Amino acid sequence: MSYVELTRLSKKYGTFAAVNDVNLAIAKGLLVCLLGPSGCGKTTTLRLIAGFVEPSEGEIRVGGRTISSPGRSEPPERRNMSMIFQSYALWPHMTVFENVAYGLRLRKLPREEIARRVESILDVAKLKPLADRYPGELSGGQQQRVSLARALVVEPETLLLDEPLSNLDANLREEMRFEIRRLHDQYRYTTVYVTHDQSEAMTTADLIVVMNQGRIEQAGSPEDIYKRPRSEFVAKFIGGANVLKGERLPGDAVDVGGVVLRCGSGDFAAQGPTSVAIRHHDINLATTAPALGETNWVPGTVTRQVYLGSHRDYLVTLSNGEAIRTVTPADIAVPQGQPVWLHLPPEHCRALAH
Ligand code: ADP
Ligand code: MG
Repeated sequence: MSYVELTRLSKKYGTFAAVNDVNLAIAKGLLVCLLGPSGCGKTTTLRLIAGFVEPSEGEIRVGGRTISSPGRSEPPERRNMSMIFQSYALWPHMTVFENVAYGLRLRKLPREEIARRVESILDVAKLKPLADRYPGELSGGQQQRVSLARALVVEPETLLLDEPLSNLDANLREEMRFEIRRLHDQYRYTTVYVTHDQSEAMTTADLIVVMNQGRIEQAGSPEDIYKRPRSEFVAKFIGGANVLKGERLPGDAVDVGGVVLRCGSGDFAAQGPTSVAIRHHDINLATTAPALGETNWVPGTVTRQVYLGSHRDYLVTLSNGEAIRTVTPADIAVPQGQPVWLHLPPEHCRALAH
């Protein structure tokens, strides 16, 4: 049963729709990532769910009860949700313990219960040894864990996270992804996690919702989104695929600049413009021409080549001017200007209808 439901949800600023006709049903206990580039409407969607912003159209239901609709919104404090912002906003003059206890003190819970709940959550968040420190005496990752503990201690039904790891350095970011997932699994609240980072979404989410210009482009499991993108935007944004413009041919084929590419999967347009998506690492680069009659080979010229230690990154320009990115093992060094042939294996070519 879905728990958080967004129905035809829009938020307009003047004539501009920051969130545009979004429909989404989130099952109870799921961790959902809203993923998309800066400005696509992720934060606005989260603020709509939290109740800091009122919808222009549509509604939000939680557990079957309408909590937001135009002109009728339940205030944030009545929603049993916790939201964590990009900046942790810890109280600098309070210790870790006091920071985490703050929400419970506001609710005027008995002192013993506050102590019990704070200690238990500090334990889970591996913060017990730091309970008496002040935020200024903690690393970024520790501060982030305090802000998580503070959000969780009030036992929200829904946890809302807005780019919670963006202020951390790369190593810590990776570690904290697993931490967030672990805490989610332990408490099983419904989590909506906003990020622009694809790998962050892949490691944490049960369901990824890809957003673009206020709309949902595609929603699915990490594997679904990665393997079966349904639009050019998703193919490029998730895993940075090449997208080649072409025309539909009979069967499973697409004509790309005079070359026939057979596609192992995809959404085929009945006719007319059709694109082919293929990832950089699925393309093979050769310096000799393929045998006559071989399919899915495209001639081009190396226009850029970069050594990256573990591999080389190539930009190959085709005769129609389109550029394809591909990678080779590091010891294969084909210089700029040299003619090459690219093999785009049919099983990695995915047709995208327009
Ligand atoms: P994201 O979190 O995906 O980066 P936001 O939801 O913050 O995107 O913003 C989506 C779009 O809505 C942006 O173009 C932003 O400038 C615009 N926007 C957000 N809040 C307001 C506001 N209060 N007034 C006008 N425009 C806004
Ligand atoms: Mg944002």
